[in-house]
Amino acid sequence: MRTLVMTALLCACAGIAEPAPGGPPANLTARPNPDAAPAVYRNGLWYVADENGVRFEAGDRYQAGGVFVATAPDGADIVDLSGAYIVPGFGEAHNHNLDGPWTAGRGQAYLRDGVFYMKNTNSVNSVDAWAAEAWETPGTVDIAWAHAGISVDEGHPEALYRRIANVYRLDPEELEGDVFWDAPDIATLEEKWPAILATEPDWIKLYLLHTEDEGERPLAGLSRAVFARAVELAHEAGLKATVHVNTARDFAAAMAAGADEAAHMPPQSVQGEEDRQRYSLTPEMARAAARSGFVTVPTTALIEAYETRNDPERERILEATRDVQRENLRLLKEAGAPIAFGSDRYDGTGLTEALAVRRRGVFTDEEILRIAVETPSRSIFPDRAIGALSPGYEASFVALECDPRDDFAACVAAPLRRIKQGIEVGATGAAQAD
Ligand SMILES: [Zn+2]
Repeated sequence: MRTLVMTALLCACAGIAEPAPGGPPANLTARPNPDAAPAVYRNGLWYVADENGVRFEAGDRYQAGGVFVATAPDGADIVDLSGAYIVPGFGEAHNHNLDGPWTAGRGQAYLRDGVFYMKNTNSVNSVDAWAAEAWETPGTVDIAWAHAGISVDEGHPEALYRRIANVYRLDPEELEGDVFWDAPDIATLEEKWPAILATEPDWIKLYLLHTEDEGERPLAGLSRAVFARAVELAHEAGLKATVHVNTARDFAAAMAAGADEAAHMPPQSVQGEEDRQRYSLTPEMARAAARSGFVTVPTTALIEAYETRNDPERERILEATRDVQRENLRLLKEAGAPIAFGSDRYDGTGLTEALAVRRRGVFTDEEILRIAVETPSRSIFPDRAIGALSPGYEASFVALECDPRDDFAACVAAPLRRIKQGIEVGATGAAQAD
């Protein structure tokens, strides 16, 4: 009897595929694509990253059902990659520029850049309710949605959306519950929480602005007490919290409450010495971020849209802002704190931000490449088997003409091809360099 039971158990076990060596950990899932024709990819130099850094490995890779597999599938097409440098698809960890069907063209610009994944960190619930599923295909950008974020009445982002309400044909007086949730106190937050969850967010977006002024003047975001409760509720629901922060104190308050990510890095504008102090991170903050795995999405590209109009005063503000950004990036790098790229630019993609951070001169090209590759799994789809090019991971990659460790900007400027979940995507031609 015992033998029979043992045999039955062994048979059951044998039916379960063992994870391939080098395959994804059990908590990651690959999205299959039944429409992908099986393929053998020849003559590629494949991105591999480990504790020693990034290297490119020659060899073949195999794909079936949109996922890398260990052996050549029957009837596979041979795809010659002509000695290209193959890297996993990039991501955009902070933007709002993809939602309704009118943004499909911008989605093509993402694919052209090799940016396959996007986190929409605040959007319009009434638009998302019907538009979101159009993005759920292997041939389009995959979007993680925060939907409407949690803040306060007359704060951020309400004032911003009021200015662009006509774009979405919204009544500027009816924005609560559609583009933001008003949570002035814990009781109100808890009352609205079921409605927030009913929108099925992938992430929760929370707003902190100038928390150092709490008690002195009305805030344009959450109080620290409501914020802390919101983080707790998000985690109870199995959701991560990404936080709009303005100042270094906001950054510290977000970490102290156990939030997962800063959707910005201070500063966005440094006008004088007082600002410099308000927006400078401390080495201790950077070390705390490294310890807890708190991700920073610097959005340094935002200030590049600031027009100086050859005005020396505006030039000075821009340069002072870049300076503090540079110093904050340096502290985060030295501490080993995790970073993800997001541009928050309507005309941008994750690549726009990778290039903006690169121009700050803090990271080597190899480090920029690695952050760009790790952004999707770190900040957008932490549960997906993406970001590596081995069996069990989604067969999604960008073929580059040269080694991006030597010159990241030049090599990502015009990808040779883009394959997402086993199919060719994106028009050919130059990516958008800014
Ligand atoms: Zn934003």
